[in-house]
Amino acid sequence: MSQTVLLPAPARREPGRRRPTRAGRTYFLRTFGCQMNEHDSERVAGLFEADGMVKARTIDEADVVFVNTCTIRENADNRLYGNLGMLKRFKEAREGRMLVVGGCAAQKDRELVRKRAPWVDVVLGTHNLDRVVHLMDQAEEWGPVTEVIDSLSAMPSDLPSRRESAHAAWVTVQIGCNNTCTFCIVPAVRGPEVSRRPGDIIREVEQLAAEGVIEVTLLGQNVDTYGRDLAIGGRRRPIFGELLRRVGRVEGIRRVRFTSPHPNDFRPEVAEAMAETEAVCEQLHFPLQSGSNRILAAMHRGYTSDKFLRRLAMAREAMPDLTVSTDVIVGFPGETEEDFQKTLEVMEKARFDQAYMFLFSPRPGTRAAAMTDRFVPEEAAKERFGRLVELQRRIGAEQNRRHLGQRMEVLVEGPSKKNPLVAAARTRGNKMVHVEGEFDPGILMDVVISRSFAHYLVGDPA
Ligand code: SF4
Repeated sequence: MSQTVLLPAPARREPGRRRPTRAGRTYFLRTFGCQMNEHDSERVAGLFEADGMVKARTIDEADVVFVNTCTIRENADNRLYGNLGMLKRFKEAREGRMLVVGGCAAQKDRELVRKRAPWVDVVLGTHNLDRVVHLMDQAEEWGPVTEVIDSLSAMPSDLPSRRESAHAAWVTVQIGCNNTCTFCIVPAVRGPEVSRRPGDIIREVEQLAAEGVIEVTLLGQNVDTYGRDLAIGGRRRPIFGELLRRVGRVEGIRRVRFTSPHPNDFRPEVAEAMAETEAVCEQLHFPLQSGSNRILAAMHRGYTSDKFLRRLAMAREAMPDLTVSTDVIVGFPGETEEDFQKTLEVMEKARFDQAYMFLFSPRPGTRAAAMTDRFVPEEAAKERFGRLVELQRRIGAEQNRRHLGQRMEVLVEGPSKKNPLVAAARTRGNKMVHVEGEFDPGILMDVVISRSFAHYLVGDPA
């Protein structure tokens, strides 16, 4: 484990001296990026509240602002530095305000964040979030502090967390990734794969169930390899299927989801565990990235389009009602029209319910970013992107139409953002269903699907 500490050397408090809490001070969190970051922000909120702070309604009311950063896409970086510029004015507007920057950009570009925004009080990485309050204490006593740990040897077992939802929660099972996808910055930022002990995970899920949570989403960069870094029963092997079965048995947990699996590591044991564990939802995120074998090889994905489709068929055979979503990158360096046609063909064959589609954006520090001689002209990439979106809109609408007239169980999330008289709810397959009426968040009910669109369904209480 190596550690970078800039300005100043970590100060340890005298033993026995009680650290003053920030009772009554307010905090505001600004989170960029993925579910892992959302969950990390919940943990930061939990640590802040354990220190006596309360959540501010707006950023202007806050005494402390925590920015949880993302580096996955270039515009996320640009937004970050724009935000930090604005937050300089926030900090200067009232004495005693603190600015804390964590997350992937802080982990990867700690010196850059410090250089571009010297007014930030604390810069901390993704591996030492549990130290946030301690580092704020240091900054108050000594001035700006940066602390980033480059890799973890073991995951912290417990951290308090303040959940946004009373009925649903994320549970981290693994961080980091051992793969080398050439477009991805995650291994450089989050380090190699580290799995959390199954006992710690089960205890957290049991605690969540005791607090009224009925849905958990297990988080990891490559969950299918979960456990292969742990010596359990004297053996090192992936045990994600077993973990799913154990989490599914926790009393009170009605829905278990997970993200993300890797098609190359997705094994029959996991599909069987999904099919045989009632609480595990019939939902799979299966990132294709490209349908061209040439591009998949350049991406270092480790599978061909045929292997991808075979694994998908295996999952669907185990769970005929499976809902499948995917990620696709358009315009990866060297992608030709012929390669793109292969992607369209695989999309037609795979018939995803939903797709997260991205235009390739080079991330400094990745191998793909250095393939400048093969960059696809922006106009061509955008034109392909438009065709892909159109295709997926049609397939998504067709997939949703199959649900017309079906009775489905939905979990109410709350009023729809656009119309408070309509409730937003999710099927087990994670499809959004709008149901007319006011219903309490967290209730499960049956609806009959009466209308379908490309991105959502409409249902009537059954
Ligand atoms: S599997 Fe590939 S895309 Fe996913 S986190 Fe690891 S390196 Fe990144």
